[in-house]
Amino acid sequence: MSHYKRSTCRACRGARLEAFLSLGQQPLANSFLSTPSEFAGEKRYPLDVYRCESCSLIQLLDVITQDELFRDYIYVTGTSETIARHNEQYAKTVTSEMQLGQGSLVIEVASNDGSLLQCFAKRGVKTLGIEPARNIARTARERGIPTVEEFFNYDLAREIRSEKGPARVVIANNVLAHVDEPIDFLTGCAELIEESGRVITEVPYLGDLLDALEYDTIYHEHLCYFSVMSLMELYERAGLMIVRIQRVPVHGGSLRILARLRTKEMSGHAPEVVELADEERRRNYDKPDPYRDFAVAVAQHREKLVALLEELVGQGKALSGYGAPAKGNTLLNYCGIDRELLKYVVDRNPLKIGRYTPGTHVPVKPVSELENDPPDYLLVLAWNFADEIMQQQIEYARRGGRFIIPVPEPRVI
Ligand SMILES: [Zn+2]
Repeated sequence: MSHYKRSTCRACRGARLEAFLSLGQQPLANSFLSTPSEFAGEKRYPLDVYRCESCSLIQLLDVITQDELFRDYIYVTGTSETIARHNEQYAKTVTSEMQLGQGSLVIEVASNDGSLLQCFAKRGVKTLGIEPARNIARTARERGIPTVEEFFNYDLAREIRSEKGPARVVIANNVLAHVDEPIDFLTGCAELIEESGRVITEVPYLGDLLDALEYDTIYHEHLCYFSVMSLMELYERAGLMIVRIQRVPVHGGSLRILARLRTKEMSGHAPEVVELADEERRRNYDKPDPYRDFAVAVAQHREKLVALLEELVGQGKALSGYGAPAKGNTLLNYCGIDRELLKYVVDRNPLKIGRYTPGTHVPVKPVSELENDPPDYLLVLAWNFADEIMQQQIEYARRGGRFIIPVPEPRVI
């Protein structure tokens, strides 16, 4: 069985969990289909979001086994220019702050195609990637980044440490929200670092999800939606103390969390971190209200977006989508936007081109399709790259093409 429903909170193990938002029965957001013959047999799972009434962690309880989700994964980091620039800057900052040199080891969990570790390797730092997606781990190794093809957990961390010794830095970006047992995961990260080492993670921030109505970032891979309050709780349980939290503008707004081992001398989170959690309490993140309000706003958003698209199609306009990201599939499925409204979507990822979007079965074409069969309106599903996309599509805009940015409010540009 590839799906099960858990009954307890991932952070505090409490059993009082309230569902506040249902996005319906949805296929897996990254399960693109190869041929129309697969449409009928597509599997769907509940996409319901819960709040723990004890510790307020926002989470999904429907869990798809990791083998199903990540062994043949088609998200490749290297395909976006915005991410490439982000990686380069990231490696530069960490190398200087942590004084990394020839002997230092940097380990990245969920290292994808090795794009980030390459930025460290070229600075002379030793690197090790951990990436369970076999096809993507192979790409990383071909680029010269040693990569372990396993799912990360505490047991694997112990093995790696006994083989490679401790790391100066462990990086785990956009993976903590994916794991069913985040405490075990963080305990593994703590196991890997040397005494003065750092664990650096990035997670999409719940505050941005709520403020910018980014409900499309909810899909089965993202099991948790973290507040600072809930992160403090998880890190403590893993023997880690948070020394710094920064807001970073990737993936619609994320938190970058720097943590170190808890020692007798340094046993508490940094005061600025405690202050961020206090601010969240002032915004009632520990109460049910903001989540109930969010659910109401999500339902209203669907009505507005569908009305706009139906009106345009009714006027005889041709609509396509830009980007076939996982979040686009949550949006399309929840709003019921299928081939009746969108002729096709374009994407730069060669692993997606020629396939069909899960659930809504819109064909994925190469970006060049925008010249061959230009639409009047382009729904920007990869809205976090909207600026980059609009710059690249300056020619489309010059010929009169318009863009629709779907969230937080549907906007025509
Ligand atoms: Zn809880």
